[in-house]
Amino acid sequence: MRTSKDWGHPCPNHECSHYKLMNRGNVSAISTYLTNSGKRRIFCCKVCGRQFSETRETVFFDLRTPEEKVMMALKMLLVRVDLAGICFVLGTTEETVLEWLRRAAHQAQKINDHLLRELPVTQVQLDEMWNFIGRQHSAQSEPRGESGDSSEDGRQWIWISYAPEFRLMLAAFVGSRTLQSACTLIQMTAAVVKGVPAFFSDGLRSYLPALVAAYHQTREFARTGKRGRPRKPVREPHPDLVYAQIVKVKEGGRLKHLHERIVCGGERLTQLGFSISTSLIERLNLTLRHALAPLVRKSWSFCKDREQMRRRVVFFQAYYNFARPHLSLCTKLPRREQVKAGIIRPKWKQRTPGMAAGLTNHVWTFRELLTAKFEPIHFQSISG
Ligand SMILES: [Zn+2]
Repeated sequence: MRTSKDWGHPCPNHECSHYKLMNRGNVSAISTYLTNSGKRRIFCCKVCGRQFSETRETVFFDLRTPEEKVMMALKMLLVRVDLAGICFVLGTTEETVLEWLRRAAHQAQKINDHLLRELPVTQVQLDEMWNFIGRQHSAQSEPRGESGDSSEDGRQWIWISYAPEFRLMLAAFVGSRTLQSACTLIQMTAAVVKGVPAFFSDGLRSYLPALVAAYHQTREFARTGKRGRPRKPVREPHPDLVYAQIVKVKEGGRLKHLHERIVCGGERLTQLGFSISTSLIERLNLTLRHALAPLVRKSWSFCKDREQMRRRVVFFQAYYNFARPHLSLCTKLPRREQVKAGIIRPKWKQRTPGMAAGLTNHVWTFRELLTAKFEPIHFQSISG
């Protein structure tokens, strides 16, 4: 559980024995200096004597632009303002905004790496959404929208896995609509969850092989004593693997009906009593569409498009999980905690997916999102 007290300032000196260690009492504030963004503290490490600014190893490090402006640009990227619009409003260049995005995405990745681990998730909804970068090769995909691994389908899809019980975005990946991308998504998901959760998706064919690649057991065959080559071991789905699909039947672009298809683990699914659903991730799909402006740049190479989109998606993921209270997660405050703030007496406690999953105890501010520092993982306890 990460609390506000954990926002320490570790020593950034590689050669120091306390390098990156938090809350060991070796770092203290010694002075302040004035910048465009107001006062900043200078810290000193008692062990090695190194002095450093509080923005060291954060998105704001060494930027001359006021923090407020950087935050405003990054917020606009999350509410569907396009790059040209941001540059017009803030009077910056696209390159500058993209550099801030690069830093923010790097920070978001650190947040994911440190906090999304061993998650006690029981259900995972999978979806791939949007072909938001139209390219000339898009015509090569099959009618169902799936593309072969060899096709040069340039369309980009956001692949997402979602834990409905916490409204938590577990993993997100930008790539083409291929088996390879499905495998990447499942691997990323398997790396952050504990045990084998139940998986639900739409009717895309690639998920089953991707799931079996991540969750399987190998069955060996005993030698029969007869002549000839022994039977090769086969890969079977893990006995705990539950996977079901919601198949949409469309006619003339209209949804005609839905049907459920249990692909594996039917018995366990009945025991668990989960209903087969992908509705929450489809709601997230809508949220994402409202958040991210399509990125189509004539002058950019395809890879650059993809890279920029990946950065946006990982940044959105961290923002969504930790800094954006989710309406359906808020809980009623006990009477004694309904402290009056001005004329308002809040009755509800806002919660983020990260709080619902027990990863943190408060809604992070946008600045926290951009400045949180972490100890290297091997120094932390599992719960850390
Ligand atoms: Zn030090």
